[in-house]
Amino acid sequence: MPQTPPLPTRGEWVDACATCTQLFDALTRASFDTEGYPVAEHEALCAHLVAEHLGLLPPYREDCGNCIEWRALDPDSVAEIHLGEKKPGPRLVPVLGRVDLLHRAGHLIYADL
Ligand SMILES: [Zn+2]
Ligand SMILES: [Zn+2]
Repeated sequence: MPQTPPLPTRGEWVDACATCTQLFDALTRASFDTEGYPVAEHEALCAHLVAEHLGLLPPYREDCGNCIEWRALDPDSVAEIHLGEKKPGPRLVPVLGRVDLLHRAGHLIYADL
């Protein structure tokens, strides 16, 4: 029997933006489809959150292995280290930053996981 994917958490942010509401509802509907995890809907909402609501993204979580790894690579903390050596703040590969942000957007959508 296929496992039903978890349902997203409807936080206050969902109703504060018409696009969020629309994408969230699409994700919730798709989550009832037992054929699998609604990757496309999840990614669409994450991408919108990263593009429009960066301030909403939660900080790294102590209980998440991915967060702990990414925090170690956080461009800001790397820049601080290099600042002490009077080097210009380096930029990590942009795609890494984006994956990081998309991952944290997932924590916002599934706040209880
Ligand atoms: Zn939105
Ligand atoms: Zn995480």
